[in-house]
Amino acid sequence: MKITAIKSYAVKVGIRNQLLVKVETDEGIFGWGESGLSGREKAVVGALEHYAEFLRGRDPFRIGALWQEMYRSQYFEGGRVLQAAISAIDIALYDIKGKALGVPVYELLGGKQRDRIPTFATTFAEPGPAMIEQAQMLLEHGWTAMRLSPSGHENKDVYEPREHIATTAKWCVKARETLGEDVVLGIDYHHRLSVAEAASFCQKMPSGTLDFLEEPIRDEAPSSYEALRRLTGIPFAIGEEFASKWQFQPYIERDIHQYNRLDVCNVGGLGSRPAQARRKRIWDSTIPTSSQFSRGWSERITLFPMLPAWGSRSMRN
Ligand SMILES: [Mg+2]
Repeated sequence: MKITAIKSYAVKVGIRNQLLVKVETDEGIFGWGESGLSGREKAVVGALEHYAEFLRGRDPFRIGALWQEMYRSQYFEGGRVLQAAISAIDIALYDIKGKALGVPVYELLGGKQRDRIPTFATTFAEPGPAMIEQAQMLLEHGWTAMRLSPSGHENKDVYEPREHIATTAKWCVKARETLGEDVVLGIDYHHRLSVAEAASFCQKMPSGTLDFLEEPIRDEAPSSYEALRRLTGIPFAIGEEFASKWQFQPYIERDIHQYNRLDVCNVGGLGSRPAQARRKRIWDSTIPTSSQFSRGWSERITLFPMLPAWGSRSMRN
């Protein structure tokens, strides 16, 4: 079997751009993958064109070797754009191999470990009565874990954190009071806060209000997260924008965070997973993330049977 074409489909579905990638072969079997770098599709399409130049005519079963060649065969390896392109191709190659062998992709990755997939849902209403209503509706529909959205998150103007921290904290407390102790409750701050602002937010809530705090600050410097760790006991969920398994390394080795928000459409695809899992036991506390919700969702379903943690899903979808 040989790769004959790599085709890109950049589309907008719902609220986000998506970049689907189809890898075709001379035997009629094709695979689908997806880039997770939403908003930078044109750059990823260009990277895919570079890779297609030497992937056409190659054996799609040699996934690991092709991954290494895409990553290491040139100077300036890695980075968000290249890794998003590699992710899409890697996932498509696994799709091809699974179809050719007649097995689910998880059989190529060590086999499934679970039959049920716990997930969480996200409320999108601004903190206030509408947010509580959405959360209660989710609870009534059987969701036992949910993620709230901070005040001002849909604001198109300059985001001023101090205008929103107190309101968000107040309604998080109300959500906990209303929903009870059993619900897993978190919030995603989309790295909009400084260390001081994030600490203020956390300290305005009684212990036990939140079970996880997602991306409160930017992640370039692990030391910033270490500083925040000293100021709050709320578990951190981070890594959604990491472009490789290696970006998780300092966080894991220094025990900074508690949940890996790992996007297989950005970290290098499914191929990055096995070695990473064996060496770091990274999957013990992984919440796969969905920056996209089409193929991305199905890829995470592929991944989920192998994980002992949660996935995420949005109310918008
Ligand atoms: Mg997030």
